[in-house]
Amino acid sequence: MHALRWHGRGDLRLDDVPRPGRPGPGEAVVEVAYSGVCGTDLHEVRHGPNLIRTGPHPLTGHAPPVTLGHEFSGRVTALGGPVLGIDVGTRVVVDPCLRCGTCRWCRHGEYHICAKGGSVGLASDGAFAPLVTVPVDGLVRIPDGVSDEVAALAEPLAVGLHAVRRAAVQPGDHVLVLGAGPIGVAVLMAVKLAGAAGIYVSEPVPERAERAAGLGATEVFDPMTADVRREVFLRTGRVGPDIVVEATGRPELVELAVTTVRRGGRVVLAGISGGSASLPITQIVPFERTVLGSLGYNFDLPRVLDLIADGRFDPSPLLTGVFPLSKGLDAFAELEGDRGRHLKILLNPKEH
Ligand SMILES: [Zn+2]
Ligand SMILES: [Zn+2]
Repeated sequence: MHALRWHGRGDLRLDDVPRPGRPGPGEAVVEVAYSGVCGTDLHEVRHGPNLIRTGPHPLTGHAPPVTLGHEFSGRVTALGGPVLGIDVGTRVVVDPCLRCGTCRWCRHGEYHICAKGGSVGLASDGAFAPLVTVPVDGLVRIPDGVSDEVAALAEPLAVGLHAVRRAAVQPGDHVLVLGAGPIGVAVLMAVKLAGAAGIYVSEPVPERAERAAGLGATEVFDPMTADVRREVFLRTGRVGPDIVVEATGRPELVELAVTTVRRGGRVVLAGISGGSASLPITQIVPFERTVLGSLGYNFDLPRVLDLIADGRFDPSPLLTGVFPLSKGLDAFAELEGDRGRHLKILLNPKEH
């Protein structure tokens, strides 16, 4: 079968690989319907290895080349043991978080920050292929009435929902979101659902800014021309936003986030990059500001699917293109080349 595999920095190839064998105990094989290309995938190809280990992964033992793809929907084709509520043929999305199940964090339900953890599609072969082997722990049934295409978008929304739960957004809060890429848009949707009174977005790419405005942002600022800190300060009665979510991973925005949030407010860093930021201690300690990290999600995927099923979460604005898997390299090139037009591209292994 075809698989889009990471071989090294700048080296992504459409390879022919063997089909997965029978699943081992605790594993399932899923026939992939749609698989989203994530900023993480782009980052691994352009600047990696970042999350990909060049040697054997401590949990899976897998070493590159590795098939990418961790945001996907599909249908179970084989199960290595019984799973409550899931049979062969059940439509599923997959929480791609690999976990040891025994460390201090796994035992406390924080499996997404497992001491040995990794992700399907980075630490094991992922879903840019017709078939993928996954741990049964990650299987989540897709509710009837939610299409495979929409279900594949649940994963990035879960990242947004998790960041908003980390931020503890309360009804009536004022929230500033830095960046309206896929994560920023997912955060914006979740902030709206949480009942924020004011949602401000900072985004320099005009098409992305326009999209954010259409999704219910109170006001969108272009950071190239506007003093975002001052504008939001003025719109919050000279207080500042209760919460700032950094959704780009750009280190230089961390200081802006910290100096913009109100006294006693919370900054959530939801984007990852390899860089480092310097923070003015005098802007944190005397004002009791809190800085939090938010990584992926834990137990958020079923919540998102429930919200999609009853119509309160609509992920379709995230979707800007569907490519056959065989054109996967073109999809990566387009995502990199046209940041305005694209948010989320899905790959379909069945089309040619
Ligand atoms: Zn992702
Ligand atoms: Zn663990």
